[in-house]
This record gives sequence, C-alpha cells and structure tokens, in this order.
Amino acid sequence: MKITGYESTILNITEDDPLANMPEEAGRKRPIVILRLRTDAGIEGIGVTLWGGDLTASLRSAIDTLAALTVGEDPQRIEKIIAKLRGAAGSPGGAGGIFTSAIAAIDIALWDIKARAAEQPLWKVLGGHRDRVATYASGSLRRGLTHDQAQRAARTLVEKGFVEMKTQMALPGDPSPTEEIRRVRAVREAIGPDIKLMCDINQRWRPEQAIDIGSRVEDVGLFWLEDVTTADDYSGLARVTAALKTPIAGGEYLWGITPFRHMIENHSVDIVMIDIARVGGITPWMKVAAMAEAFNLPVVSHIMPEIQAHTVAACPNGLTVEYMPWSLCLFEETPRLEKGALVLSDKPGLGLKFDEKAIKAFRA
Ligand SMILES: [Mg+2]
Repeated sequence: MKITGYESTILNITEDDPLANMPEEAGRKRPIVILRLRTDAGIEGIGVTLWGGDLTASLRSAIDTLAALTVGEDPQRIEKIIAKLRGAAGSPGGAGGIFTSAIAAIDIALWDIKARAAEQPLWKVLGGHRDRVATYASGSLRRGLTHDQAQRAARTLVEKGFVEMKTQMALPGDPSPTEEIRRVRAVREAIGPDIKLMCDINQRWRPEQAIDIGSRVEDVGLFWLEDVTTADDYSGLARVTAALKTPIAGGEYLWGITPFRHMIENHSVDIVMIDIARVGGITPWMKVAAMAEAFNLPVVSHIMPEIQAHTVAACPNGLTVEYMPWSLCLFEETPRLEKGALVLSDKPGLGLKFDEKAIKAFRA
C-alpha cells in the first residue's frame, strides 16, 4: 500500500457546553486542523490536531509540508515515516511546538489506515485491554461560572448519567483561599459523595499555594487535582504530590516523550495525563503509557475523547477518558456513552467518519 495524497482543513469549532448547557462564554471558538490521508488501496485515514492558536495557519502549512513527504510511502511503516519527517524538519531527536502538533495529525491518520487495513478497531490493534472505558464530563464546571451556576451544571451532568466530572479552582480575580475552597465544596454538595470529582488548576498556583489550598480540601475527596503549578516545575510538583493525600495529575502541557521521563523520575505526579496533539500522536502516546505502566502509574487522556478512547481502552493502566465535547460535532458518530462509560465500537480504524455538513459549517 502507498500514500497517494492528502487534504488538510482549518476549522473553528465552538467551545459551547453541550453537556450541561452552561458555557463560560457562549460562542467562544477554537481553531483545529483536520487531515485526510489517502492511499492507493482506497483507504483514507483521518487525523485531527490543534494548539496552533493564532499560528494555526502555520500549523496547517507544517502539516501540508510534512504530509507531502509521506506521498509514496507505505503507511504501515509508521516509525519509518515519522523518522523521515523528523529529519526533514531538522529535528531528529527533539520535539515541540507546531512541528509536534503537525506530526500528531499525520501519525493519527497513519494508525487509522493501519487499523482499517487490518479491518480491526484501533483500540484492539493497540492492545485491546477493555471494550468500555470510564469517562468524565469536562468543560461544564469551569472557573468563570458562579458557584450557583456550577452547582446547577453539576446536577445536570448527574441527571445525564455522568459518574465522573471535573471542575476548576484558581478562580478569576485572585480570590482568597476560603473563596477557592467554596467552589469545590459547592460542587461536591450538589453531586453527593459518590460521584468522582476532579479539579483543574491549569498551572495557575505556586507550589506552596497548591499545598495550602490542596490541604484544606483533602476531606472533599477529590479524585485528582490537576496541573497545580507550572507543568515543567518537576520538583515543585513533587513537593505538592508528597504533601497531599489527594492524587496529583499532570502531563497535558508536555511536548513529546522525554519530558514525561523527567516528570515520572521526579515523582511529580500520581496520574499521568497525555494530550494526543502535544505528545505527537498515537505512537508516542502508547510509549508514554508504557513508561508510566513501568512506574505503576495510571494514564488519562486530554481532550479529543473520540480518538483517545482507543488509546486509554488499549492499555492496562488506562484510567479514564476526558469527555471534552469540542470535537465530537465533527463526526457522524462517536463512542456511545452508557452508564457514565464510553463504549468502544467494532468499526475498523478509529471508527470515525467526518460529518461533511459540520466540516463545511466550521470551515475557517
Ligand atoms: Mg487540564
């Protein structure tokens, strides 16, 4: 089989909140790039990536330049292709930024082709540990809401059958620790003791703030506290992880494989979070998961649940999938939610088909 062509498109998808209908800012948009990679066998692989921000046109240009270099290659030889692309970008060992986000789209499309050619769903090709995965509602209980709005949204999520959900602290306006704590207590009160509740800080605290506020909410029983300080402050994160009973999650901001080594070696987190675009696609995703497994650490995904349900389901240490709904609207069908879990299908490859009407509507 040979790659014969490609087509990339920039889309502006909405960041509305279809899960609880309580958006932080109605109509807010986020740019992403989709890729179709074609072969002479009639199999088309699809890729999706983001994190270009205002540089998304550059991200798309990087994808096109790299995708052009895959034409004529055997899509089954993913490691060979990725090495060629790294060499072409003058980055044989390194990783980061737009180059890695661009590689991610191509790598995802190559795995889609490989699994489609095998007539197997990707989660089985990657290991097939389980056919349904835990998932948590994300994007509904954000820091910009009032406590009252967050409580109402949380109740909606419970009514919809979610058994895991994430809120945020590091509230806007530099509030006192007492005010910060009020947010997670309010959400916990709304959902009861049995729902798993995560809380994201998005790198906005200093380590000592994380220890102070984190220790005041130990009794809330958070499933994890996420990105409590600057993502590559491995020793600062380790101080927080050692000081708190609440598990600390992190990793979504790391580019490529190597930073995960430093994060894990420094005992910086209890739960390793992997972002499929920043890590560089499915190939490095699975390598980071295996590295975490060797250290007895679970892995979780960041955004794009329709793609990362496959990777989390595939590996034995996959813990839960972030059900961030941003990209779900791009596909005709995505993994089904059942009793708060995601059910993987037996469709070949990613099991995803672009909804052409949605693609047209979101085209930048
Ligand atoms: Mg996060």
